[in-house]
Amino acid sequence: MECPRCGTPNKTNAIACRTCGKAFKAYGHPGVNIFTAPEGEVLCETCVYREDNCTLPNYPHATQCTLYRDARQPTPAPVTYRPRRQWSWLVAVLLLVAASLWAALPH
Ligand code: SF4
Ligand SMILES: [Zn+2]
Repeated sequence: MECPRCGTPNKTNAIACRTCGKAFKAYGHPGVNIFTAPEGEVLCETCVYREDNCTLPNYPHATQCTLYRDARQPTPAPVTYRPRRQWSWLVAVLLLVAASLWAALPH
């Protein structure tokens, strides 16, 4: 990723710019992005939370924000629940069949 302040290319998971030190992640945590508006722009103008009357202190003039979500990007598909296959019943049936066969064998 390119640093919005100095233009230095950095690793996509970099916490801060290796040249100018600009923070890319909040609180030093790799999972919390700090979004930065391009020079002369404000993030709130394109943020989906603008219409929900955002209550953050920097609204509506935020140039950096951790909660920014670009309203121009398509909404990510919702995560659907897929139950895992239940193999335990199959194991139980196989054990039952094996036990029946063993019992049916002449001893
Ligand atoms: S979440 Fe951030 S970018 Fe979005 S409207 Fe609020 S302050 Fe602006
Ligand atoms: Zn930089």
